[in-house]
Amino acid sequence: MLTDRTTLAQFLIEERRRHPDSSGELNSLILDVALACKAISRRVAQGALSGALGKEGTVNVQGEDQHRLDVIANDIFLRATEWGGQTAGMVSEELDEPYAIPAEHPRGKYLLCFDPLDGSSNVDVNVSVGSIFSILRAPVPGAAATAEDFLQPGTEQVCAGYALYGPATMLVLTVGRGVHGFTLDPGLGEFILTHQDLQVPATTREFAINTSNRRFWEPAVRRYVDECLAGSTGPRAKDFNMRWVASLVADTHRILTRGGVYLYPRDLKDPRRAGRLRLLYEANPVAMLMEQAGGAASTGGGPILQVPPSDIHQRIGLVFGARDEVERIEAYRHEHSEDASSADLPFYSTRGLFRATL
Ligand code: MG
Ligand code: MG
Repeated sequence: MLTDRTTLAQFLIEERRRHPDSSGELNSLILDVALACKAISRRVAQGALSGALGKEGTVNVQGEDQHRLDVIANDIFLRATEWGGQTAGMVSEELDEPYAIPAEHPRGKYLLCFDPLDGSSNVDVNVSVGSIFSILRAPVPGAAATAEDFLQPGTEQVCAGYALYGPATMLVLTVGRGVHGFTLDPGLGEFILTHQDLQVPATTREFAINTSNRRFWEPAVRRYVDECLAGSTGPRAKDFNMRWVASLVADTHRILTRGGVYLYPRDLKDPRRAGRLRLLYEANPVAMLMEQAGGAASTGGGPILQVPPSDIHQRIGLVFGARDEVERIEAYRHEHSEDASSADLPFYSTRGLFRATL
């Protein structure tokens, strides 16, 4: 029976009733995002039949090859969310500049940041991919947003979430009161609440990192991973497993459902790059989800959510998951930086972290 299940719309309406003054615009925006995710899910599920696999032959602002599905997913996100009058502007991984809401549509009081298709290189090999999104308040509601408007620390997010296009399509989100997972019922075309109040255990025996970068790691990361690998005979006195999907959404979802710790730290591979993942539409939404689920998310030196962004496409080192493990990595980082040589590269520049908020 449908009536004993909670749909995403029902869930959002019940949340909204806790805030009698709210206008419902946030809910409308989240439902438009959910519609975009359903449309992307269908395209992804068609695989090679959609004729949309492979590379587009273009490069995005990150210097990465755009896949055809990156471009399609980006268009779906824009079309689903631009018309409703809830947003003042958007930032997408696939667009150099913030997306201006077309003149024929009203501008609203929210800003939407998204990675329309995360892990898109996994599509060609039929491995899970996802979409990630973050919603902020527009500093000037109703006016066209500028790039500076998006440079708010993650603590300012009002909603964060992702869709996972795996064997089942799921939408996982927080509106600031826990993390909840919804599974797409393909027959109804509705997201149904299936995972209420997800929690990340404080400890774990599972870690995730791309070990091919080991030679570029900072001493603190090398120490942490070496101690995990030493297992029951090492200082941790327990055996660890390693997992790495190379799809941020899939790795995040695993940690939200069964625990673990994930590291994509800043490293010495390309010193000009302050990490691999993007702050506004990858690290911040994942960090809000983790903190809302009792976990933690860090640059390696301090909380992700407190970092004032300096650029809409800023990259950053990211460590998240089990709180005790994240704190251990931060402690190693602080120990090593106290006696670090000048050759050591910090996870983030202290100057950047404590810079006045724009
Ligand atoms: Mg992407
Ligand atoms: Mg991505």
